[in-house]
Amino acid sequence: MPGRDVVVVGAGVAGAVAARDLATDHDVTVLEASGVAAEATGRSAGLIAPTLFFGDDPAVARHATEFFRSFDGTAQFELTERDRVDLVTAGERPEAEATAERRSAAGFPVSFLEPEEVAERYPRFHADRFAGAVEYRDTGWVDPYSYANAHVGEARERGATVRTGVTVTDVAVDGGAVAGVETTDGPVAADAVVVAAGWRTRELLADHLPLPVRPYRTQCVVLEPGEPLGPEFPLARIGSEHLYIRPEHNGDLLVGGGRDLLDAPETASSDADAAFTRDIAVRLPELVSGFEDAGVVNGWAGVDGATPDAYPIVDAPAEAPDGLVVATGFNGLGVMISPVVGPAVRALLGGDPAPFPLAPFALDRLDTRSASFPLHSTSDV
Ligand SMILES: Cc1cc2nc3c(=O)[nH]c(=O)nc-3n(C[C@H](O)[C@H](O)[C@H](O)COP(=O)(O)OP(=O)(O)OC[C@H]3O[C@@H](n4cnc5c(N)ncnc54)[C@H](O)[C@@H]3O)c2cc1C
Repeated sequence: MPGRDVVVVGAGVAGAVAARDLATDHDVTVLEASGVAAEATGRSAGLIAPTLFFGDDPAVARHATEFFRSFDGTAQFELTERDRVDLVTAGERPEAEATAERRSAAGFPVSFLEPEEVAERYPRFHADRFAGAVEYRDTGWVDPYSYANAHVGEARERGATVRTGVTVTDVAVDGGAVAGVETTDGPVAADAVVVAAGWRTRELLADHLPLPVRPYRTQCVVLEPGEPLGPEFPLARIGSEHLYIRPEHNGDLLVGGGRDLLDAPETASSDADAAFTRDIAVRLPELVSGFEDAGVVNGWAGVDGATPDAYPIVDAPAEAPDGLVVATGFNGLGVMISPVVGPAVRALLGGDPAPFPLAPFALDRLDTRSASFPLHSTSDV
């Protein structure tokens, strides 16, 4: 149903992608309380590994991976392709081998590496610490701020209006259907409202749609090794240590980890904790050579929304007012899975079917609407 007035709440990566895709044939207004990519999106490490996290839904993973390749070169956006290894312990090895086999059988460029292959291909890892690795050859990283802004730029070119510094205070509902939103700058009428307000989506929709989304905080530090990392150094996850790493363009290393549940997300610090930074500086030399005297370049933290099964919610649930779509609960994976948001939201608003199933993102797959659930461990990116 083209030509509708659609409000998108939030200009993080989810709102940015939704706005760009909807703006081709709808009148789109983006309302953002702060600035484009000012919250979780701008704090992301930007790792792109859809096959790893979404490969059990092959059409989803393929759509995301292919989108990044095709969008590379748009505005200031650049995809840096780089292999990724998930280093595993002996206890983790059987499941890792099974995952590699399953992904490979589904046609993804994924293999299991023995420890000696890890040592040969990636000599800076202390390979004797590991019982092998799953290698993904369709991964990479992006600068999430440029990525979100490239979407917003294209949305504007397609006619969208983007208003920053405007907080949506409620969704207006009339006769069981959305009529627009209330904001700190007055009401805005709309035929449909896409709420992509990150972890705040739950509280914004409290009177309309209970959502099982809870905020958590996660952190990154960047270390400068004695010898810069070369272009062969991969992205990696060391699940047993709850860490992930990716090289910077200048040979430094970004290290991410930590998942703290928050009672007061509004006041969570956006700086990395001193204890987290110290802990990384102590543990990293045991995993990667050349970090014995590494300098700490910088560090930061951000808040994202978790769901009970670590999959996002992108849906127009039957129990919500007509015309309300939500895109939230990205579990530390929101940049890499963002390409699905556009086609999903278009389909949910009555457009063409998405080129992947929407069921994995539907709210009714979850049997709770409470925000008190344990965090799912696989979403350490
Ligand atoms: C430290 C860190 C590292 C990460 N690393 C990765 C990674 O390597 N790869 C990956 O894929 N993902 C990663 N993530 C996760 C990713 O950043 C998030 O999943 C993603 O950015 C979520 O996007 P979003 O649009 O849902 O939320 P956000 O980016 O938080 O955007 C929501 C927007 O809505 C606005 N808003 C909220 N309420 C209102 C309101 N009432 N009215 C108007 N506007 C409102 C906010 O101001 C905000 O700009 C990381 C996250 C963190 C914190």
